[in-house]
Amino acid sequence: MFLRRDLWRRGLRSSPELRRLLLRGFASSPPAPPSIPPFDHQPLPYTGMPGEEILAKRKSFLGPSLFHYYQKPLNIVEGKMQYLYDENGKRYLDCFAGIVTVSCGHCHPDIVNAVVEQTKLLQHTTTIYLHHAIVEFAEALASKMPGNLKVVYFVNSGTEANELAMLMARLYTGNLSMIALRNAYHGGSAGTIGLTALHTWKYPIPQGEIHHVMNPDPYRGVFGSDAGRYAKEVQDHISFGSSGNVAGFIAETFQGVGGSVELAPGYLKEVYNIVRKAGGVCIADEVQSGFGRTGSHYWGFQTQDVIPDIVTMAKGIGNGLPLGAVVTTPEIANVMSQKIQFNTFGGNPVCSAGGLAVLKVLDKENRQAHCADVGSHLIQRLKSLQQKHEIIGDVRGRGLMLGVDLVTDRKEKTPAKVETAVLFEKLKDLGVLVGKGGLHGNVFRIKPPMCFNKADADFLVDALDYAMSGM
Ligand code: PMP
Repeated sequence: MFLRRDLWRRGLRSSPELRRLLLRGFASSPPAPPSIPPFDHQPLPYTGMPGEEILAKRKSFLGPSLFHYYQKPLNIVEGKMQYLYDENGKRYLDCFAGIVTVSCGHCHPDIVNAVVEQTKLLQHTTTIYLHHAIVEFAEALASKMPGNLKVVYFVNSGTEANELAMLMARLYTGNLSMIALRNAYHGGSAGTIGLTALHTWKYPIPQGEIHHVMNPDPYRGVFGSDAGRYAKEVQDHISFGSSGNVAGFIAETFQGVGGSVELAPGYLKEVYNIVRKAGGVCIADEVQSGFGRTGSHYWGFQTQDVIPDIVTMAKGIGNGLPLGAVVTTPEIANVMSQKIQFNTFGGNPVCSAGGLAVLKVLDKENRQAHCADVGSHLIQRLKSLQQKHEIIGDVRGRGLMLGVDLVTDRKEKTPAKVETAVLFEKLKDLGVLVGKGGLHGNVFRIKPPMCFNKADADFLVDALDYAMSGM
């Protein structure tokens, strides 16, 4: 009932689709809802502040732009591997991993242990003194990179990583203009918000010389999967909009916030050639797609057979720790030595110990292969569901980096905004938490902790099926 009221409040009351959805139910008696797979963990009783009080305090003391998921926001108080628990002890399957951040699983014991042990010994000094953890972590991270990407800078977030990458590109090339894709998200700082193209995230302040080129989106893009035609537009921007030269090109190979869009095959190869000919460097934003999540490769850019000049990462690198990194070549890193480049918390002992533990867990538990295996099972099941439900316009992605694009008309690809909002709430009630994204908010983003297994995948698809069948 609250759903009807809240959609009403959001101004959707006059929508005929909504009225139809709210009035419709299961044609006959409803089937039993699917149950969450068994899991051997007892959450602690919660004695803290109730959700309503937290919400009231958020409104009083935190910024007004803070948004939350769900009509009645969840108060999540505990996490264990791929599951989350709310204040009442209800368990949810986490298919969004704190926005693609909890790579190994919530409170993974190896990572908790590494962080706790380091915290007990030494929490902080900065890089003015030597410490083994930062070099061990840097060496391990560099060993995961192809080509000559060997020099690591540690920062605290994805935004900071992209800020630094943009600075490097401009200093190294002596050029100013940057190229980013429409539908991209690269951060929320004064600089990176310029790279970010999604209008909901942008403030109207001057951004410097940044060109947003067409998104090579195989499903919604005007040229479909024709990478060459999208690449030509990049060349046009450089030739006519940027006096023939450019500092850098940045792209996520799998757009996260933009709705799990995998760039048209072959696009990065063509564009990297164009950008390098114009004197620019190529930056891969791996904040969401790195660390084996795509299953077929460790890094998203490898799916396009390219080697960037600069790679930025965050989120999954720390399994929840505030940690980001930029990896580049010694040649590019050299320009940074013109001045002092310093970051108080970058590579601090605690985050370095935690980050190293993440890399070890991913290797030890063979997570890349696991993502490939579970991901292909999940994609196959989602594609079968697409045969059954007209509302599923597109199922895309790789490994555990997937998107389900919901439409009201398959031919026109009309975003099913209202239906997505309704299904989103229904999934939560069934115990499934997914992400929502895309320009129109009509894409379910499925990017769970990488310990997510086939039983979880089946539960997710059964829950989607159940929710869609009742529409
Ligand atoms: N790049 C990408 C691809 C992202 O998804 C994000 C965060 N959603 C960022 C950069 C910015 O990261 P952070 O929020 O850690 O600053």
